[in-house]
Amino acid sequence: MEAIGIWPHIADQAQPVKRIEITDSGLDAGIRPVLLAWDNDLHEIEGTSTAAHIVPLPRLNAALETAAASERSIAIVRPAAARSFSVGEFSADIELEGGDTIAAPLAVAADGRNSILRQASGIKTVGWPYEQIGIATTIEHELDHGGIAVQHFLPAGPFAILPLPGRKSCVTWTESAAEGHRIMLLDDNAFLEELDLRFGGKLGRLKLAGSRKAWPLSVHLARAYIANRLALVGDAAHGVHPIAGQGLNLAFRDVAAMTEVIADATRTGLDIGSSAVLERYERWRRFDSMLAAGAFDALNAFFSQENRLLRSAREVGLQLVDRFPALKRTFITEAAGLTGELPKLLKGELP
Ligand SMILES: Cc1cc2nc3c(=O)[nH]c(=O)nc-3n(C[C@H](O)[C@H](O)[C@H](O)COP(=O)(O)OP(=O)(O)OC[C@H]3O[C@@H](n4cnc5c(N)ncnc54)[C@H](O)[C@@H]3O)c2cc1C
Repeated sequence: MEAIGIWPHIADQAQPVKRIEITDSGLDAGIRPVLLAWDNDLHEIEGTSTAAHIVPLPRLNAALETAAASERSIAIVRPAAARSFSVGEFSADIELEGGDTIAAPLAVAADGRNSILRQASGIKTVGWPYEQIGIATTIEHELDHGGIAVQHFLPAGPFAILPLPGRKSCVTWTESAAEGHRIMLLDDNAFLEELDLRFGGKLGRLKLAGSRKAWPLSVHLARAYIANRLALVGDAAHGVHPIAGQGLNLAFRDVAAMTEVIADATRTGLDIGSSAVLERYERWRRFDSMLAAGAFDALNAFFSQENRLLRSAREVGLQLVDRFPALKRTFITEAAGLTGELPKLLKGELP
């Protein structure tokens, strides 16, 4: 965000996550003891500051839109819904609702889970639904959060409280599908009572500060990330469980790698839509997102079970990790997206 000049436009709304706390308890537990906690600081590792920020999406979108609009080499076509996709010898052609066509040497599909471009190019996906839904909302609380992000592992799935600027937090709540649908139908007061039951009570009285939204949760991976003059990025390529809040970060990694591959190809005079160029992108990103999807799937299966034996095992595991600073550091760098072969943009450099 710094490298592309976005950061100054979101910094005042970006809440640093100073500390992360993890608990694992039953739904009706009176208190939720912290089993694992770490200060989310990269000074020791990277010489930079906080490893994570929570940014409200409308602010991020607005900053990105302003930056794109002020860049002379970007043409924005809006409204524009892609209807189909075909490939000629030298161009990728996207047909829009309404009949217009956009042609370019390369199309990058960033059109989400149900990507029309992916489907039109015949790329299949592998994946499965979870018997869970994700509920997200914003709440206001009586006490300061102190920049602490909390993940309560509850029997139905992870319940994350992510600090926003001021006395506000974003809640990302995984619930079993049936119970989640029931909760979403409740009125605001009853919804808040359900939320309060899971919240852990540390931030005083709670009030809803935004609408609530729910999504069915699933995992999917595209069988290929590229086709003739087409590359998939973000959820068009992979959808992961929100347990670690990494979906958008994986998408940023894709975009950064794609940008670097295109920049290098342009510099050396190669056709940016050629398979030699696109294969480099696919090799770079496919394995990493496959590993991430597998790891989040396994974490969700391990933590979303109400089994006493498993809970004891998890408790011992979390407390063990809590005692090993080196292991904690591994988690911080992993969550900050600083492992593996980093594209330049993720190191704060222009490609
Ligand atoms: C409950 C939940 C919680 C989450 N929490 C986090 C979190 O804390 N942190 C995190 O990093 N990630 C999180 N994620 C994941 C994150 O939301 C996604 O990974 C991310 O939004 C993917 O971005 P994307 O741009 O690839 O796809 P999307 O955000 O789905 O965007 C796709 C875009 O394409 C447009 N589009 C679709 N079809 C067409 C078409 N035919 N023509 C033109 N445009 C089209 C859509 O309008 C949309 O604007 C969460 C997801 C869920 C479900």
